[in-house]
Formats: sequence, C-alpha cells, structure tokens
Amino acid sequence: MADQKKSLTIQHAQEQRAQAEALFSSIGEGAIATDEFGKITRINPIALATLGYSEKELLGEWFPKKILALTDRNVPVNLIDRPITKAFLTGKSVTEKMFYRRKNGDTLPVIITVSPILLENRPIGAIEVFRDITFEEEVDRMKSEFISLASHQLRTPLSAIKTYSHMLVDGYMGEVTPAQKKSLRTIITASNRMNELISTLLNITRIESGTINIVPKVLKGERVCEEVIKELALAANEKEITVSLKHRGRISSTIKTDSLILKEIITNLITNAIKYTSEGGAIRVEVQGRARDVLFSVHDNGWGIPEHSHDQVFSKFFRAQNTVKRETTGTGLGLYLVKGLLERLNGKIWFESTEGKGTSFYFTLPKERKTKPLTKAPPKKAVKM
Ligand code: ADP
Repeated sequence: MADQKKSLTIQHAQEQRAQAEALFSSIGEGAIATDEFGKITRINPIALATLGYSEKELLGEWFPKKILALTDRNVPVNLIDRPITKAFLTGKSVTEKMFYRRKNGDTLPVIITVSPILLENRPIGAIEVFRDITFEEEVDRMKSEFISLASHQLRTPLSAIKTYSHMLVDGYMGEVTPAQKKSLRTIITASNRMNELISTLLNITRIESGTINIVPKVLKGERVCEEVIKELALAANEKEITVSLKHRGRISSTIKTDSLILKEIITNLITNAIKYTSEGGAIRVEVQGRARDVLFSVHDNGWGIPEHSHDQVFSKFFRAQNTVKRETTGTGLGLYLVKGLLERLNGKIWFESTEGKGTSFYFTLPKERKTKPLTKAPPKKAVKM
C-alpha cells in the first residue's frame, strides 16, 4: 500500500515536470531558465533559433557571460545592469530593451522580461522571456523618417502663411479693419503654435533615432535662463504672471553643454509653468552651481499635477486630467522631449507637485560632458560587428 502511494507520488511529480517542460517549450517567445547562480538550466527552441546556439552549447553556462547584452551604443551592458541581476537583487520582475549578440556575431534588438523564482522570498532561479523586435524597430524607424520628412515639408508653406499674415497685419497691403486685424493675429498665433509643434516633432524623431547633434560649448546656466525668461515675457505678461530668476550659492553656473538644447529644455519648463498657472501667479527660476553639476529649477504656484498621474508625466502624449479641462492647447510631448534631451546631455530630471498648490521641476547637468556625443543611429537591423 505504501509502495503504491509512493509510486503514485512519483508519477504525479513526473507528470508535473512533463507539463512544465511542455509549457516552457511552447512559450511563443524566447525563454531561458536559470538557477540561483545564473546558470542556464533550460532554454526553449525559439530562444535557440533566435540566438543561433544549440541547446548543448548553452545548458550549464553562466547566462550573463554566454549571452552578451549590448546597449544602444554598442557597449556591453554591465553585469549589475543586466535585467537578470536586477531581478535577483530586487526579487521583482524586470522588463528592459537592449541588444543581444547572436552566436554568429550579429546583434538584434530585444525586449526582455526576467522574473525571479522565489521560494520563501529568496530567489532560487529566474525565467527570462525575450522577443526579437527587429521588425518593430524597423517600422518605428520608418515612422520617424516619415514624421521627419512630413514636418520638413510642412515648414515651407507655413513660413509663407506667417510672412503674408505679418505683411497684412502691418498694413503693407493696404488698410485692414480692426476685425480683420484680430483674425490675422489669430492666424499668426496658430501658425506660431504649429511651428513649435513641428520643431517638437522633429526633435523627437532626432532623439528617438539617436541622430540629434550635440555641440557642447562653455556657457553660463544663469544667462540661458535670463534669455528664455525675456523671450517668454510676453506670454507671462498676458497672464500677469511674474517670473523671477535667482542664482543660489556661490559656485558659478558655468557648464559645458549644448546651448540650443539647454534653451529648449528651459523654454519647455517655463512655458508649462506659465500655461498651467492661473492669472497673477508667480514663477521662480533658480540656478545653483554645485561641485560637479548645475542644478536648475522652475517653481510655480499653479494648478499642480494630480498625485495619481505622477509616474506618467514624462510619457509620450501624457496630459493630466486637471489641465486638459482648462487648457486645451498642448500635445503631451514637451516633457517627453525634455527628458530625452536631458538623457542625451547626461542630465537628470525630476519634479515635486501638489494639486492646487504648485509644481517644481528640477534638472541637473554635469559640468563636463563625459561621454562622446551620439551622432550615429543605434543598430536597427542585425548587423555584423
Ligand atoms: P503639454 O504641455 O503640451 O500638454 P507636456 O509634456 O509639456 O505637454 O506636459 C505634460 C502634462 O504635464 C501637461 O499637459 C500637464 O498636464 C502637466 N504639466 C506639465 N508641467 C506642469 C506644470 N508646471 N504644472 C502643472 N501641470 C503640468
């Protein structure tokens, strides 16, 4: 009787194992299982086909060493930054995009999700599922190329609209009535907005394709803020909003960075502060030189961002509920662009906000750029290295 029970338990365990095996092999994406030390214990046929190895070549190998992961700049990802390490360290599932090197040396873009297998809160292994996203990347590249081309083409007719509207409003083509003047001003404002939108779209495609051109030069952070504040004075005055500038501390705000990009970042942040603050509000721009970087901040006492939306603020097309109702113009692309631009300048951005009270955006820029400017697109297709 006891023997019969034992053999039933063994049979049950074997059935479970066979089921798990079948499940693992049938996952429609590449799947790799490791033990607690990161050694490969299982690998499914899709993963083998995608990476170009045989099962024998991978089983028992230390995963991070055998399968090389690369960043979009073609540099090997540090062990500490590999999703599998992060999953082991945090005990949580990690999803990231990077590049894998196949056995034949080609690289391919992949989306990876690693989940730790936990036993009493201790990782005893991990399962990684990954997908080759070469096709999606190609579609994305074509989409960016299209947006870039379309935006360039839109600029020419737009500049004609702007030029002639200005000539009409200034009376170069005869007297215009006050009502006509009002309409012409609306056309000018709308075409200015369209121009800004085109610039944003072009910048986003440049950021996403890694082709943004960075020209670092020595400048004073405070000066750039001053220039931007002057340029936005009209918009602030219209809402009777005061914009002040303060240099904090004694260390100079001199940095070596790209002035146009820095200007674009500050312009976006102050424009938002003006847009999302009620009439009569106050905006404070602060610059603080520190040992290794310069800290910029833009504080407003405006509408604030609802707490439940805080983690979406830098996502593409995000617009908070409380602002959409009151301010219809906006694309939700500004902060996404700002974050992308700051990443290219090795900077960091964060914010604090309380709905109904106000918002403070902070960003830092290193005093010296350490990495080389990225002027080349990351590998989009499987390329020989
Ligand atoms: P846009 O301003 O074109 O909508 P952004 O990406 O610049 O796009 O901003 C995204 C959203 O974040 C805004 O729509 C708004 O809801 C919120 N936001 C940004 N800056 C502020 C601010 N200073 N105060 C309140 N809300 C803000």
